[in-house]
Amino acid sequence: MRKRIVAGNWKMNTDVAAGVKLASDLMQLLIEKPAPENVGVAIAPPFTHLSEVHKVIDPAKICLAAQNCASEANGAYTGEVAVGMLKSVGVMAVIIGHSERRAYFKEDHATLAKKVDLTIKNQMRPIYCCGEVLDERNAGIQNNIVENQLMESLFHLNNEDFSRVIIAYEPVWAIGTGVVASPDQAQEMHKFIRSLVAARYGAEIAEQLTILYGGSCKSSNAVEIFSKPDVDGGLIGGAALDAAEFHRIVQSF
Ligand code: PEP
Repeated sequence: MRKRIVAGNWKMNTDVAAGVKLASDLMQLLIEKPAPENVGVAIAPPFTHLSEVHKVIDPAKICLAAQNCASEANGAYTGEVAVGMLKSVGVMAVIIGHSERRAYFKEDHATLAKKVDLTIKNQMRPIYCCGEVLDERNAGIQNNIVENQLMESLFHLNNEDFSRVIIAYEPVWAIGTGVVASPDQAQEMHKFIRSLVAARYGAEIAEQLTILYGGSCKSSNAVEIFSKPDVDGGLIGGAALDAAEFHRIVQSF
């Protein structure tokens, strides 16, 4: 049975003290009521918080993730944070290709492919985000857009490396907007993604692939979305900033 995951993307929110409190509160809730069997929990705080947050979480209960990484391994890249640095503070997964990074920081397919490669080379798991903007959905070309994103930044991987990938389908029109994709829209795209992976890597790898839904997911809609057969959990933005609400989403399977 493939792994279900609920991952929280804190984005550029909280200072270190508030982030440590948020992580500690979540830990406490997971001690009182653990995640359902086969459900993994991850949080992606800002870079500045990672080593302090790492001290207050049990890696058996919460996987520490980063929101981004550099596309180079080290060197003269002022302001960048390398995957090796992330690994050294306990990070085990990296969000790559979030739509905010694609849109505001002009991250292109080739840059994202390099980040994916570095993450895997450092034994961490990429959480690779894909998804269409509203105009693309209105034009009915969402499948082409997502297929292209996967082909350009993921499908160069060999089978073994691809097995480490987690995909997050995040329709851009649903991120932070309060407009959530319908469970059927999510299922349709997740099924399509799995079919692409099956065609490229075979049925077994496709069956094991965890595909998360992201975009205005909350405890009030998570149960219905997560009940879809190809939806294996969520990448949660705004609702991840409230420990009790995030914990309710973790329980939504
Ligand atoms: C996200 O940024 O990955 C996200 C899904 O945000 P939100 O849940 O706030 O829509």
